[in-house]
Amino acid sequence: MSELDLYQELIIDHGTQPRNHHAILNPTHTAKGNNPICGDKIHLYLNIENNIIKQATFEGEGCAISTASASIMSELLKDKTVSQAEDLFQIFHNLLTQKSTTGTNNPKLDALGGVKDYPMRIKCATLPWHALEHALHSDPSEVNTESLS
Ligand code: ZN
Repeated sequence: MSELDLYQELIIDHGTQPRNHHAILNPTHTAKGNNPICGDKIHLYLNIENNIIKQATFEGEGCAISTASASIMSELLKDKTVSQAEDLFQIFHNLLTQKSTTGTNNPKLDALGGVKDYPMRIKCATLPWHALEHALHSDPSEVNTESLS
């Protein structure tokens, strides 16, 4: 099996059986994202305690790429600090937008990075990540108590 097939397997797996695909009660941070070009919608929920992302879940309907991206993102975010999450966003964003960036040493991010060859689908893959950015900045009073100290 080639590397490309492995990546496709991962996308199909997460796209058809998304992880953390549910709402959570009393999230500390949430955000909605909408990609009208494809019809993807996402509602992201985060539970952040002491600057650590304890839980990341999502609801919404979208194509396989956006669903897989949200599912993979939710797994990657668990137990990360807020700044590690920001770093992941940046790494993923660079992977998709900079031609010179070919890999991230993170197999799951690299799998999603395959959409770089299909410009129409890039917005599908980045939708959950932009929602993440919005969510992290949606209620700074909740997170900043720790990072200011
Ligand atoms: Zn889509």
